[in-house]
Amino acid sequence: MLVSATEMLKKAKEGHYAVGQFNINNLEWTKAILQTAQELNSPVILGVSEGAGKYMTGFETVAAMVKAMDKCLGITVPVALHLDHGTYDGCYKCIKAGFSSIMFDGSHYAIEENIDKTKELVAVAHQLGLSIEAEVGSIGGEEDGVVGMGECADPAECKQIADLGVDMLAAGIGNIHGKYPANWAGLSFETLDAIQQKTGAMPLVLHGGTGIPEDMIKKAISLGVAKINVNTECQLSFQEATRKYIEDKKDLEGKGFDPRKLLAPGVEAIKETVKTKMELFGSVGKA
Ligand SMILES: [Zn+2]
Repeated sequence: MLVSATEMLKKAKEGHYAVGQFNINNLEWTKAILQTAQELNSPVILGVSEGAGKYMTGFETVAAMVKAMDKCLGITVPVALHLDHGTYDGCYKCIKAGFSSIMFDGSHYAIEENIDKTKELVAVAHQLGLSIEAEVGSIGGEEDGVVGMGECADPAECKQIADLGVDMLAAGIGNIHGKYPANWAGLSFETLDAIQQKTGAMPLVLHGGTGIPEDMIKKAISLGVAKINVNTECQLSFQEATRKYIEDKKDLEGKGFDPRKLLAPGVEAIKETVKTKMELFGSVGKA
């Protein structure tokens, strides 16, 4: 059964570990992530961007697939189905489609408008039992065509948004989406520390988890990060394994062209990546 992310993140923050959000693109991704979470007895958040939702023909399709798969695979660990970087309209669509969690990314609005819209969505989400993530200070890099600059959030603004009753807060601390450039300055732990001091028990979210060095991940968790988003890394793992299968000409041997065989190495690679992340984040055995 799908659950909101509230309880799993509260436990993670208290227990000094983080729950991974892994973005899904299709059936293979979803199955690989759910099976790995179950094998490792770990809570998990399935992230769906608006672009991926559209790709899968709509949020309704996504919710129906995830719910049915969760049931058919006999998944017993807590699973949240979460809208990633949602627009105002996207949030309402996901609420209607049966998601258990949403993110409203109002970081590109002036803080007053971000507050107004977040406040409204918190009330709607909570009335229906969904959890909600808000964002302050845009995350750098490119996601679904939106390019952020990797700014550091203002801790006072973080407190204003946290006080609206959101369940998790994404705040820019120099992190970016996609691959990190060679000249990346690293995470700003000074900013993270200041945000955590202002927002107390609020589970903080680290976006752009791909390519952040392990010691920085651990330090971020020690400073209040309880949810870490991983997207690009699963894509790269899948790509690399699929490329190898083709380059080794496995698709030309026997029934190697069977899509279930063709996609299998990529699925195994996603599982391996998810496992490595869950171990690093400390969520293994915490379901
Ligand atoms: Zn993000």
